[in-house]
Amino acid sequence: MKNTITHLTDGITVIDAHYADQGIACIYIVVQASKVMLIETGTSYSVAYVLAALDELKLTPDDVDYVIPTHIHLDHAAGAGHLLDLCLQAQLVIHPRGATHMINPEKLEAGTMAVYGEEKYRKLYGALKPIEEQRVIIAEDEFELDFNGRQLRFLDTPGHALHHFCIYDLLSHGIFTGDTFGVAYKQLASSNSEFIFASTTPVHFDPDALLESIDKIISLQPKYIYLTHFGMIKPTKKIVSQLIQSIKAFVAIAKEEKYSIQGRVKRIEKKLMLYLLEQYHKTQGHASLAEAKKLLQMDCHLNAQGLDIWLKRLAKKREA
Ligand SMILES: [Zn+2]
Repeated sequence: MKNTITHLTDGITVIDAHYADQGIACIYIVVQASKVMLIETGTSYSVAYVLAALDELKLTPDDVDYVIPTHIHLDHAAGAGHLLDLCLQAQLVIHPRGATHMINPEKLEAGTMAVYGEEKYRKLYGALKPIEEQRVIIAEDEFELDFNGRQLRFLDTPGHALHHFCIYDLLSHGIFTGDTFGVAYKQLASSNSEFIFASTTPVHFDPDALLESIDKIISLQPKYIYLTHFGMIKPTKKIVSQLIQSIKAFVAIAKEEKYSIQGRVKRIEKKLMLYLLEQYHKTQGHASLAEAKKLLQMDCHLNAQGLDIWLKRLAKKREA
């Protein structure tokens, strides 16, 4: 099994979760005094890669103390139940709004299956496994975890999802941001910067909350941002402004379609792609425009769905 472990900083390594393709989603393995914390779990298919990585690091599943998905979207959390079955000492740390779905995953599974259809769902995620309630730690905003002398602070960060927290690692002065700080695939980076954009996937996207959460992250002046899609970046001014710009652009695109519901998702998707390719073209990234287009397809599709749901929510609010 091909498994590339990349050592980052302060005992943090990153591996590919092999979700959908390579270079799409990652899992962080944090080692502190020979104990392990996994941040993100990938899917049930990612478990084999985690085990191989632990082996390569001369660690075993019994060394895992914590399994921590940043939120319960399935590219982040579908492997959790499987990992807890194998890592017998481990506990799950989860956002208060995510806990029930990890303990009783039937609704989460059915909901995701409704979006993808069963065949695609199985291919992408496998199956979910329930987690025993006594192994679940709920992390409210400002929750502090002492991981073998390493301090972690959990920050409630709605905007991408209501069940999303970010994890501030005081030792490396870095923050694990899940999807809150957007997506920056390494394939699209240029020699001097990343190409970053927001994730507005269904069903909780809320631009104001997302901007506030990004502000919360930046106000801590982190040295590093650990993205799930994909890897470690430095939150330079340029990166932050590119990310915020993308939220504003996505919202503007969605609002153009506010009153025309028929075929809306498709039109938003097309416009998102045009916007991203135009931005990408300016950054002179390593990949060709055709490669970028292929890579961005899934994001544009899901982001369009999320924006459509947000518009529907706005319309309901206006009616109320
Ligand atoms: Zn997500």
